[in-house]
Amino acid sequence: MTLQEPGPLTTEAGAPVADNQNSETAGAGGPVLVQDQSLLEKLAHFNRERIPERVVHARGAGAYGTFTLTADVSRWTRARFLSEVGKRTETFLRFSTVAGNLGSADAVRDPRGFALKFYTEDGNYDLVGNNTPVFFIKDAVKFPDFIHTQKRDPYTGSQEADNVWDFWGLSPESTHQVTWLFGDRGIPASYRHLNGYGSHTYQWNNEAGEVFWVKYHFKTDQGIRNLTTEEALQVSGMDPDSHQRDLREAIERGDFPSWTVQVQIMPAADAAAYRFNPFDLTKVWPHADYPPVEIGTLELNRNPENIFAEVEQSIFSPAHFVPGIGPSPDKMLQGRLFAYGDAHRYRVGVNGDHLPVNRPHAAEARTYGRDGALYDGRHGRARNYEPNSFGGPAETGRPLWQPLPVTGATGASQAPVHAEDDDFTQAGDLYRMLSEQEKARLIANLAGFIAKVSRTAIAERAVANFRRADPDYGKRLEAAVQALRG
Ligand code: NDP
Repeated sequence: MTLQEPGPLTTEAGAPVADNQNSETAGAGGPVLVQDQSLLEKLAHFNRERIPERVVHARGAGAYGTFTLTADVSRWTRARFLSEVGKRTETFLRFSTVAGNLGSADAVRDPRGFALKFYTEDGNYDLVGNNTPVFFIKDAVKFPDFIHTQKRDPYTGSQEADNVWDFWGLSPESTHQVTWLFGDRGIPASYRHLNGYGSHTYQWNNEAGEVFWVKYHFKTDQGIRNLTTEEALQVSGMDPDSHQRDLREAIERGDFPSWTVQVQIMPAADAAAYRFNPFDLTKVWPHADYPPVEIGTLELNRNPENIFAEVEQSIFSPAHFVPGIGPSPDKMLQGRLFAYGDAHRYRVGVNGDHLPVNRPHAAEARTYGRDGALYDGRHGRARNYEPNSFGGPAETGRPLWQPLPVTGATGASQAPVHAEDDDFTQAGDLYRMLSEQEKARLIANLAGFIAKVSRTAIAERAVANFRRADPDYGKRLEAAVQALRG
């Protein structure tokens, strides 16, 4: 019987509930009795309805969909879901903002998460990207500090311009991503009108064991649409759930959003001698160097039935690879390989991978992992160790990805290895690519925020980074900040 059909209300243990409007009391008007177990259970369950929200990407919306392969990529990867033109794979995509809490507004200036789960026949492949091709930092050791500056100050309880600009000014590698964020694409009009990027470089390997480095791009078929700062203030005031609502309603009316999927492919041998570190998350691979190749289409076509079960409890990890795909030496990616699984074991629990939205749909998880909170008894009486003499799952002997040759000594060196490993060239490239109107809005957006800092030295250091990206950029920004600060 579904809960849409009439029938008796019950306790969590299934016993009929006689009265759901009045507590049981000692006499009419008397105190409430502890023996009213359905009341106590109801209050106790309610107290436990929330799980810890994500530390980052807390606010989001998701939908199921289909990825269809449209090109033969077997010369680059042996991933089975990428093996035949026309092959379709079920997916789940969660969009999000980054800094805001669970109940914060959608229409804000912030990167958008673009976390995509492919339910493949070899288990789930998670591509946990953003709507930007680059990021603020290039080493996960800086991530907790960075996010502390984006979120609430320990004393004021608010985001503080001082903290944000102090960190960015002292982390010049952020200049490219900050330019992107304060440009027009910093506030998408909806989740349907943005591009997704895998951002990191990943490894593809083919049947012959050859390695290729790859970057993913998801180009929106709806076209890019953004909000100005002023429009966003209006939208987030009128409808804090604007992006979530837009996505759900589009899918409800059959207007399924889609993205054209492209990859940039770098043969492994190119990496060492490339102009800059191809595993640096603060840089794109210019299209002129590695032209995007179209490989597929992604359509979102089904809303989740229950947001808590399927969006809040959805788990994504960049460490979820399938045969033919693997990590690169990108230091941010390496940190995320650990941090995502760790976050979800804390947030959702050690058995969270087995919830319906998270478990493989086209494959089966055949592990010797057992027990833990909310273990559902899967695998029954089967032996819980390996190797064993009773049959059951056995290791394949074939790694998902190819091993990498390494050289040099261990250590925490930052020394540039490639000729163009600087922090400013690509920020300048982006600035110079913008129209005059786009530049004017970028300068106004940046200046409006920088002008709020309490110390001139913090403002000057921030502006100096943009000056190094492009002298005109720095000059205009300095003038705009000075005009606002007086
Ligand atoms: P290209 O001219 O080959 O590519 C430029 C890219 O910039 C296009 O993908 C375009 O996306 C995107 N773009 C256009 N306007 C904006 C904007 N206002 N904000 C952010 N992105 C925008 O140049 P390069 O490959 O040499 O890259 C130059 C700069 O473009 C880079 O420094 C980077 O900041 C930005 N960029 C590069 C990407 C890449 O993978 N190479 C991807 C995205 C941005 P679209 O086609 O959708 O309009």
